[in-house]
Amino acid sequence: MSATGPEDPCGATSSQPAPHSNVDLARIERAVREILAAVGEDPDREGLLETPARVARMYAEMFQGLHQDPAVHLRKFFHEKYDEVVLVRDIRFCSMCEHHLLPFTGVAHIGYVPNGKVLGLSKLARVVETVARRPQVQERMTEQIANLLVDELDAKGVAVILEATHACMTIRGIRKPGSMCVTSAMKGIFRSHLSSRSEIMQLVYGGGKYTTG
Ligand code: ZN
Repeated sequence: MSATGPEDPCGATSSQPAPHSNVDLARIERAVREILAAVGEDPDREGLLETPARVARMYAEMFQGLHQDPAVHLRKFFHEKYDEVVLVRDIRFCSMCEHHLLPFTGVAHIGYVPNGKVLGLSKLARVVETVARRPQVQERMTEQIANLLVDELDAKGVAVILEATHACMTIRGIRKPGSMCVTSAMKGIFRSHLSSRSEIMQLVYGGGKYTTG
């Protein structure tokens, strides 16, 4: 079984109002004013007047996952005697590189072999969203998603693959547009059995034979 992911999480369709209550917006605004002044801008010129407040709301949204527990989405499973691979491909995400506070965006592919607990397909996308919306590095995000599935589902195997482009690589530094960073975390039978690992890679990359989306 496999399916493709939901709509673009960076787009307007999924942007929920950010839970600002946990975020000190005024403090971000003061900091943004300070950055503008520090780079030689005039924070009081007309075009920039609203910028600190806008950036504060943006950060509250981009980092809202700090105040959410991704595991809650994995506790609503149903019991099913299905012990083949479940794969959700192309779950789009936007995260923020914690080294530069620049976005990295891409897709997650998540496969697991259930051990009696099967998730609704949208739950995996919610886990990705929650883990992405915090200061991150792609490697840790990959591990976090895999470990959440191992811990909450007791799955026989978990495979998480993330592919992303990092703005900190494309617009600054070595400026390599189009370069893609791929990370993977393999747990359980996907780690111990080469044949299972080959199967999941085939499902993710090997063409549309098994896909429904
Ligand atoms: Zn970076």
